[in-house]
Amino acid sequence: MATESSPEAVDVKCPGCGSAAVRSVPEVCADHASMRDGLADRLARSPGAPTRFDSGVHCLEGMLLAGVGIALAYGGIAHHRPPYTAGGALLAALLLVGTAVVVRREARERALVTAGESRAEALWRPAYHCAGCASVFCPGGTPWQGLLTPEQFKKFVWTEAGYDKELEERFTDVDLPPGIPTGP
Ligand SMILES: [Zn+2]
Repeated sequence: MATESSPEAVDVKCPGCGSAAVRSVPEVCADHASMRDGLADRLARSPGAPTRFDSGVHCLEGMLLAGVGIALAYGGIAHHRPPYTAGGALLAALLLVGTAVVVRREARERALVTAGESRAEALWRPAYHCAGCASVFCPGGTPWQGLLTPEQFKKFVWTEAGYDKELEERFTDVDLPPGIPTGP
């Protein structure tokens, strides 16, 4: 496990507790140990939008299942069983509509994440996490000032980037300090 040894981070100190046990947030998020204990997720820059590959797989699954419905409908026609025909056709139609809805929603999520990416990146990348008092800050107070908990930090970044609708329920009781000064 490759931790420690980032020479440029040695003069960054936590403004809350004075500890030098700080790491940049991108570094924390790239660390396997943080991924395991959930810290990387608590500091995540953006929601995990489904990839194009995921959507492709969902589309294929939908088509295959709809194919089963179509086969059933054909079987109904061939064997003069109208209920099979109707049931199969209905099943195929529902699956096609359902697949279209899922794939469209996933495309919207991807577009939303892309739209807010530069704003999220600008607030997220310069931030540091203090292992001593578990707070997040920016050295020198730029681009934002103050000490935040990981939850407040994530809510702040996601809200600024327009991802706030993607925040989980538990973030509704996370209050941000009033008026965090930020750049444009
Ligand atoms: Zn600290």
